[in-house]
Amino acid sequence: MLVSLKNFGFGNSFPVSIRCPGCGNVGTFETLHNINDVQSPSPVLFLGHRRCPNPRCNLHVFCICDSNRTVLRAYPPQRIDFDPKGIPQPIVKTFTEALTCHAEDLHVAAAIMIRRTLEELCQDKNATGSTLKERISALQSAVILPPDLFAALDDLRLLGNDAAHVEAKTYDSVGLAEIEAGIELTKEVLKAVYQLGDLLSRLRALKKP
Ligand SMILES: [Zn+2]
Repeated sequence: MLVSLKNFGFGNSFPVSIRCPGCGNVGTFETLHNINDVQSPSPVLFLGHRRCPNPRCNLHVFCICDSNRTVLRAYPPQRIDFDPKGIPQPIVKTFTEALTCHAEDLHVAAAIMIRRTLEELCQDKNATGSTLKERISALQSAVILPPDLFAALDDLRLLGNDAAHVEAKTYDSVGLAEIEAGIELTKEVLKAVYQLGDLLSRLRALKKP
């Protein structure tokens, strides 16, 4: 649940830098008046309430930091940023679930949602076939992508396959490193398919007649 703390006072504990789970911006989150941090002695940890500095958001976040002010955990959890502009809603919904799974350290579930994002991309572009491998192949005639990104689609499909089966065949494991690379690649694919054209038209609209 996301809770906004508009009109709430500031406190004396230290501020921390967090990517806001609500508005997605990175900010120096403010402490709250009269709400002190809880300090644990060993290892030294601080548990406390913070507020997003974006006045249009002011989201409440509970965080656990170490003595270097590094955020170890935040609730709601921090998410990798993602710009959904121009991307069809079903794809945004599925990919956002992948980001939520990543934020909660649910790596296998995240890989499955990344694979499902590819399924929905193929469906949106009417790329058909009896398997996802065939549909990704059919996608090559429906969208223009650099060859490396098409190769990436197949790697993402294999990552999803490993996540869905008990015995991983392609990757050693489906862990944080694999999922973070998978999410970044999926973002690049979505950007190339849905957002590049819009950027180009915006620039061209600014040209002299
Ligand atoms: Zn925010």
